[in-house]
Formats: sequence, C-alpha cells, structure tokens
Amino acid sequence: MKQRILVTGGAGFIGSAVVRHLLTSGKCIVGNIDKLTYAGNTESLASIDSTDDYHFFKVDICDRAGVEDVFEAFRPDAIMHLAAESHVDRSIDDPSAFIQTNIIGTYTLLEAARNYWRTLGLETQKTFRFHHISTDEVFGDLEGAESLFTELTPYAPSSPYSASKAASDHLVHAWHRTYGLPIVVTNCSNNYGPFHFPEKLIPHVILNALQGKPLPIYGDGSQVRDWLYVEDHARALVKVLNRGRVGETYNIGGHNEKRNLEVVEVICDLLDEYVPPGKSSASENISSYRELITFVIDRSGHDRRYAIDASKIKNELGWVPEESFETGIRKTVEWYLENRQWWESVLNGDYRLARLGTSVE
Ligand code: NAD
Repeated sequence: MKQRILVTGGAGFIGSAVVRHLLTSGKCIVGNIDKLTYAGNTESLASIDSTDDYHFFKVDICDRAGVEDVFEAFRPDAIMHLAAESHVDRSIDDPSAFIQTNIIGTYTLLEAARNYWRTLGLETQKTFRFHHISTDEVFGDLEGAESLFTELTPYAPSSPYSASKAASDHLVHAWHRTYGLPIVVTNCSNNYGPFHFPEKLIPHVILNALQGKPLPIYGDGSQVRDWLYVEDHARALVKVLNRGRVGETYNIGGHNEKRNLEVVEVICDLLDEYVPPGKSSASENISSYRELITFVIDRSGHDRRYAIDASKIKNELGWVPEESFETGIRKTVEWYLENRQWWESVLNGDYRLARLGTSVE
C-alpha cells in the first residue's frame, strides 16, 4: 500500500523538491497544505500536479479548523512539516508573520496532529510520524574555524527567523515528551538548487548577473555557510522520516563550507563560461561577471559561520550527499539558464496569477 504523506509548504523551494521526490518514487500519495504566500509557487509542481497521487489543499497552517478538515479528508500516515516564513531579511524588517506561521502555525499543526493521532489504532499510532523540518540557524554563530554543530549544540538563535524556528523545534520536542506524539526533527544547513526563490543569495546572484545588475554582498563576504543541494536534502528527509528514531534530531549538512564571496565568484565564473559577457546588451560593458560584485552594509546580527556535523545521519541511516558544491552549483546555474520561463514568471509576478487556477480540494 502506498504511504500517505501530508507535506506542509509543498509549494516552496524545499517542499516542492520533497513533493516531486516522493511522487517520483511511485510509493506515496502526497497531500500538500500550502497557503501560497509570496514564496509558494505552484509552477514548481507542474511536473507532478496532474498525477492522481497528488492532492493540493490551499490552507493556512494557523487555521485549526482548516487543518483538521485536511487531516480528516486525507488521513495521513505521516506529516512532513516545511511550511514557514524563511527569509532572514524579511524577518528583520517585520517579524510578525514569522511569529505567526513558524510558532503559532507549528503549534496549531501539532494540536491537529495530536487529535488525529489519538483516533488511530494502536499499531498505526506507532508508525505515525510528525517530521519537523528545521534549520541549523537555531544554533547561532559558530566560534572557531574548526567547530561544527552537532545535535547536542545548545540553541542560540540570532535573528527573528531563527528564533521562531528554535521555538517551533522546542514545541515539537515537547509534544513528544508530554503527549507521546511520534516526532522526528531535522536541522539542515543552507540549501540551493532548482526552483529557489530569487530573493535568496544564489538565485539572486545568477539572475542579477544575467540582467547586468550589481551583485550585492553583505559586509566583506567572509560569512561561511555549509551548502547542500536541495535534492540531497529531500533524499535525507525521506530517510529520516522512514528510518529515523522517534524523538530524535538529525543534523543534515553538505560538508561544503564556503564563504559568501567564494560562492558568488564561482557563479560568476560559471556564467562567464556559459554566457560569455560582452555578447548581450546586459553585459556589453564587462569582461567578467565578477566586475558586477558590489559590497553592501552588513545585515544586523549576521552570524559569521555555520557548519554541520552530519555524522549521526551518516552512521545511523547511511545518508551522504550525492552532490559536491562544484557539481551542484553547476547543475543549478544550468537549471536557471534552461528555465527562464519559471524565473521570469516570478520576477514579473505572473506566478501569482497562475495559481488562481490552482485546484483546491
Ligand atoms: P520557502 O519560503 O521557499 O517556502 C515556504 C512555503 O511555505 C511556501 O510555499 C509558502 O507558501 C508556505 N507557507 C508559508 N506560510 C504558510 C502558512 N501559514 N500556511 C501554509 N503554508 C505556508 O521555504 P524553504 O526554503 O523551502 O524552507 C522550507 C523549510 O525548510 C522551512 O521550514 C525552513 O525553515 C527550512 N529550512 C530551509 C533551509 C533553506 O536553506 N532554505 C535550510 C534549512 C531548513
């Protein structure tokens, strides 16, 4: 029998990779709860949305009655919770949606899941999972060049985004400890890859470069992040969902620590190779995309370094990333070059019109 998995935030960057991955396996029926905020894009699901095994529910996770109706209609075997406000800069400008969705939304979903789970038979209760997908940003700034975040690193979030995710992680662990809800939590490093919303560093740089616009880098660009290709993250999440130990946290990382400036330079070099500058009106005055790099005032509270120790998921579940940064970033640049229609629709706002026609159950 196919596993019935309810994904929240499945129209977002990572959520859509998870939905595509689950449906491509042919072993799952997927329900997707998504409010379709500015970050939700149903065009990222075009390859699977006509499949009978896919069901879309346009619901806000803060809407308790709406979420409970979905549980009743879809009757999931497991939940993968990715819906969140996810952009740090937006959380600094206005934290309210972050508190609402990331904290209240997770609480609402936990309560709806707990009520539903209590109605299941004993055997089904045991196999049910609530998988909470979180970030390494909950651990805050890493001190020293050698240290890594482990599952035991104390939480020390720096931004409204990471603080709201930290709060949601604590709620999920408490619902396990207090009510016995069978949960697993994953904390992952920075993702990149296809269908990434252009406000985030990597797509922003690719698309600005293609348009001959400045490539803004915070501060001196020396902040270090550990980059993971999004499809590797999706594969890791499915492993943890199906084989992770209940109540446990698993860190997920790419073993790809890079300074932000390095990341931008690699993108410029790939674009120099694929779309040599000087041949279009956007790049007629430059000989390398690196000339577009512009340093801007640093983000407040900007953490210097994040890096993950992913040995627990490797040793217990046998997961390691398939892509190195070099192979993943090349695939990503190629994807943006080949999928102009997807990102032009985001940049000109048409993707918001496209979803008016989205089927809602
Ligand atoms: P995203 O911003 O691309 O997508 C979020 C999705 O959630 C969107 O489809 C949006 O419409 C939906 N959503 C937002 N508020 C909602 C609400 N109230 N009700 C229902 N749906 C709502 O985010 P992402 O980058 O795909 O991240 C997904 C998850 O993974 C988040 O929980 C994030 O914290 C976590 N994470 C992200 C990264 C990363 O590098 N992007 C790394 C580690 C963990």
